[in-house]
This record gives sequence, structure tokens and C-alpha cells, in this order.
Amino acid sequence: MIKENFTKIKNEIPGGVELVVATKARSKEEIEAVIAAGAKVVGENYVKEAEAKYLAIGNKVKWHLIGHLQKNKAKFAVKIFDMIETVDSIELANVIDRESKKINKVMPVLIEVNSAKEEQKTGVLPQNLDKMLEEILKLKNVKLMGLMAMGPAGIDPEGMRPFFRETKELFEHVKNNYSNISDWKFLSMGMSESYNVAVEEGANIVRVGTAIFGRRSL
Ligand SMILES: *Cc1c(COP(=O)(O)O)cnc(C)c1O
Repeated sequence: MIKENFTKIKNEIPGGVELVVATKARSKEEIEAVIAAGAKVVGENYVKEAEAKYLAIGNKVKWHLIGHLQKNKAKFAVKIFDMIETVDSIELANVIDRESKKINKVMPVLIEVNSAKEEQKTGVLPQNLDKMLEEILKLKNVKLMGLMAMGPAGIDPEGMRPFFRETKELFEHVKNNYSNISDWKFLSMGMSESYNVAVEEGANIVRVGTAIFGRRSL
């Protein structure tokens, strides 16, 4: 089933869109199966969980962090991940920069925006994005590459369209106003229920778990 589901989604989305397979709570065997089906990127939510899987599976696939990163885990995160999609504060960016420098790495990151402006959510509020970008641009070991957004919870896919659209506008705002961010190119939004709508609204990274693996038992 994993192979069929992955292939179906892969064929559904346009060629320029990266399919990040969300693998939280999935076993090593399930991840191996999706890699065998052709997956190039997996997304993990927790550093500890990712570490164990990374040790078993290695770098035949790219690893994205798609869950919130605690500062005290940054040291481990910079070693495993090829991209951290969830930078949402200057403080966190500073820690990532410092830890990346220690291992001679320039860490590709996306800024997580809270475009639904939900209070309990992680992510930088749109009105604070510019200030954050200006600070992060000073860091030598962090490479700004785009935006990530979750969208509001408990809303049908069509209801998410306005939030995706707003996030795309923010993405374009940065592209048009910061000629000094040379690698600004990724917009990560859309999950199992909403990836089609997200792609229509300009996403070029989608993060899909349930539609590939089935419902989580945990
Ligand atoms: C779990 C998760 C996904 C995938 O969600 P599904 O509904 O299982 O496709 C995408 N992004 C993030 C940040 C997640 O935690």
C-alpha cells in the first residue's frame, strides 16, 4: 500500500513540487518501504526520534525537520538534518548558527510563519517576519531558503485556501524585497488533506504522512 499511495501522490503533483514524506511515529520498515518506492525526502518532528532512524537508515534520503525545535536539541539537529523547516525565532536561528559553525556546516532553513495568526501556534507572525529576516541574514552558518506554514487546524482544505494564499503573498514579498537572499525558493505548505489546494496556491514543498502510510496508531 505504501508504494501505491506514494506513487499515486507523486504522479498527482507537478514535477517541480518536492514531496516530503512525514514519518513521525512510523517504523524504520515503513520508511524503508517509502524510500524503495522512490521517496527522496522524509520529514521528522522530533530530534530524538529522528536520530534513531537516521542511525538505522542514513543519508540515502534527505532529512527535513518539520516539528518545533527546542534550542537544547539544536546541537543534534544540525548534524542530522538537511533542512530545518521550522525556524520561528531569532534566538533559535542564533543557536542553529552557532552549532552549525562548530561542525562547519551552513544549515538550510525555512521560516515557519503563523499565517493563520492562531495564538497557541508556533511560527512567526507575518508582521514580525521582516525584522526576523534582517537578523537572520547576519548569520553566516544559516541559509534562508523560504517559508513553511501549517495552516489552521480543523478546517476543510478549501477553507485553508486563504491562508495558503496569504503565505504565498508573504513569500513573494520577501522575494521582491530582499535581493540579498539569493536562495529564497521554497514554500512548504499542505498535508494529506490539503496538498492539492496548497499546490494550486503556490506550494513547492508538500508534507504528506497519513495519505501514504494510513492512519497513525500512536
Ligand atoms: C504530521 C505532519 C504532517 C503530515 O500530516 P498528515 O496529515 O499525516 O499528512 C505535515 N507537516 C507537519 C508539520 C506534521 O507534523
